[in-house]
Amino acid sequence: MSVLVLEMYRSIPRHFAGRALGGRAPAQLAPLRLVTRDEPRVRRAGWAPLRPLLSGICGSDLGALSGRTSLYFSALVSMPFVPGHEVVAELLEDCDDLPAGTRVVVDPVLTCAARGVEPCVACRAGRTNQCERITVGHLSPGLQTGFCADTGGGWGQLLEAHRSQLHPVPDDVPDEQAVLTEPTACAVHTALQARVPENGRVLVSGAGVVGLLATLAIRELTPAGEITVVAKHSHQRELAKACGASEVVAPKEVLRRVRRATGAFQIKPDFGSPYLLGGVDVAVDAVGSKASVETALHATRAGGRVVLAGMPASVDFSAAWFRELEVTGSYASAQRERTGEAAFDVAGRLVRGEAVRALAQSIARYPLYRWREALDHASGAGGLGTVKVAFDPRSNR
Ligand SMILES: [Zn+2]
Repeated sequence: MSVLVLEMYRSIPRHFAGRALGGRAPAQLAPLRLVTRDEPRVRRAGWAPLRPLLSGICGSDLGALSGRTSLYFSALVSMPFVPGHEVVAELLEDCDDLPAGTRVVVDPVLTCAARGVEPCVACRAGRTNQCERITVGHLSPGLQTGFCADTGGGWGQLLEAHRSQLHPVPDDVPDEQAVLTEPTACAVHTALQARVPENGRVLVSGAGVVGLLATLAIRELTPAGEITVVAKHSHQRELAKACGASEVVAPKEVLRRVRRATGAFQIKPDFGSPYLLGGVDVAVDAVGSKASVETALHATRAGGRVVLAGMPASVDFSAAWFRELEVTGSYASAQRERTGEAAFDVAGRLVRGEAVRALAQSIARYPLYRWREALDHASGAGGLGTVKVAFDPRSNR
């Protein structure tokens, strides 16, 4: 059987054209095409085909398509691949204990279990997002579903996934909320990586979906005190408050605001951006841009913690050295978080709540063939009042 998919292909000219445009290339330049392909078939025990119902567009997808992503990742994907790792889907065949017809969300990390190899140290400990075998086993390289040539992805009519990746969705959770489970699981991981001290002051830099969900998870899962969220766009203010922000500030105001709240000193170097001596206990970068990562580094007190939740640009790490910051990444989520629970189980509870229900209302849906519009919409989502743009691969209009 053949299926319709959006496929990302290797194009060095387009990659460098995208980079030359600072990652702000229009969708016309994206190395993506709508094609008919044989359905993906991973004929192994524990694997089954799924029909995507809704599949989100993530910042990392836009990064890959616009050439903004570091070449570091080029060996961790296999081309051509079908993007889409934020997926709610319907099982088309029985998969171990899950019967055909079950609605599921997909933990996209392609771990040792999915690759059919002896579990690595990280997988054995349940830290599946740190898997060291993402390029080996019976699958082509690919850190996740949606970056691997063999599995298909959510931006197509069919994909294949391993039982270890699947989490059933309760009937009363609509697709629009379920499709936010994967980003919410990432936010759960971010909140736990933040190790917020009792009543600690937190800064979240960015109020796109990553920042909003990180705010929610930090509020729900940690003993944080004041949470300050940096938001560019006015509609993000209300959403950030609904997610548990104590206050929302514009990017220009953030250092002044943190300085006042914490009694820090603001320093202006001869060149470059200002910074604080003193500041918040924990800062989360939820964007990955140079400006956002620097805001996080520059507003954190000495000995504080900075969590990189966005895929980061190259930045000046002087503050991390001089202020002895603990800088940590937050990539995907673990099947066993430090609380002992799977991030997807915690996320499954959070997506049922009021805050995620409100976020789900502004999801914009597109059929696959309108992919250029969808990507342009996702690139400008913050300014357009949209929290998430998603493909409905079943739709024709
Ligand atoms: Zn592993």
